[in-house]
Amino acid sequence: MTTSVPQTPPRILVVGSINMDLVVRSERLPAPGETLVGRSLSEIPGGKGANQAVGAARLGADVSLVGRLGNDGFGGTLRSALAIEGVRLDGVLPTPECCSGVAMIGVEDSGQNCITVVPGANGLLTSDDVQAEEFARADVLLLQLEVPVETVLTAIKLAKKNDVLTILDPAPAVLNFPPELLNVDVVCPNESEAALLTGVEITTAKSARHAAGKLQQLGARHAIITLGDKGAVFRDASGSSGHVEPFPVTAIDTTAAGDAFAAAIGLRLAEGASLHEATEFACAAGAVAASRKGAQPGMPTRADINRLLAQA
Ligand code: ADP
Repeated sequence: MTTSVPQTPPRILVVGSINMDLVVRSERLPAPGETLVGRSLSEIPGGKGANQAVGAARLGADVSLVGRLGNDGFGGTLRSALAIEGVRLDGVLPTPECCSGVAMIGVEDSGQNCITVVPGANGLLTSDDVQAEEFARADVLLLQLEVPVETVLTAIKLAKKNDVLTILDPAPAVLNFPPELLNVDVVCPNESEAALLTGVEITTAKSARHAAGKLQQLGARHAIITLGDKGAVFRDASGSSGHVEPFPVTAIDTTAAGDAFAAAIGLRLAEGASLHEATEFACAAGAVAASRKGAQPGMPTRADINRLLAQA
């Protein structure tokens, strides 16, 4: 089932992180204290918030991003990359005397990687940076956990006051997860995040449905658990649940599949789709993202997704 473009694009607000991914490829990863000669260096715009913003913009949404960038060269490059995608950046604040968020990613020929994330300016995004007027003009709020948890909680409260649909991708997993974070309309963890939040070991679609039910008991109205190359399960507010099978693609880089997924869920729910329909569309979005290199460069357009849906 393909989807058509609505006349007024949904307005999606993203509060979250913006990072530069610095990817160094080498034959093998260095041991502590060792110096190696690498093969290549790539600078790829990333960060979960920025990825979701670009994902939603490519699908045709009217997207605003709230975040922070450092006072360095990466800040300028990241801002331009987002502007080219049509993301509104009035809420992206400059942060003097601080670096932009950076993920240093070492990848060896076997595919094994090693990542150091420096939150930089993302770590300084405060509740005061989240302005009430941004919420007054939004249909959907997309959230993740690469910025301080208190800021995410403030954004949830403001969204509720303004009748904005709240969607949380609880990634990366955080220690001391405050239970109020699950007081959202949709939560969409992957299987390991869902296992941590619920204590349910997820080995099958059935156990994933059980974990989805637990996420609802913990506060979420709808729950979706993404299962990588096994698709996703959903359970809606009425208790109706299902498993969306994966779309067959050749996976090349699954880095931002979950971000493409969350953006697509936000878009389709804003367009009035059911949770089941939105999950199907989002599985196709995640599959396209997994079949392409790079976080933001790999985000699908609506035409890409419709092509995959039509084939299925
Ligand atoms: P995360 O990146 O958060 O770990 P997942 O890896 O579960 O998220 O991917 C999100 C969604 O993208 C999955 O639910 C699935 O629909 C799709 N996806 C991811 N990897 C593949 C794959 N190899 N083949 C097909 N679909 C995939």
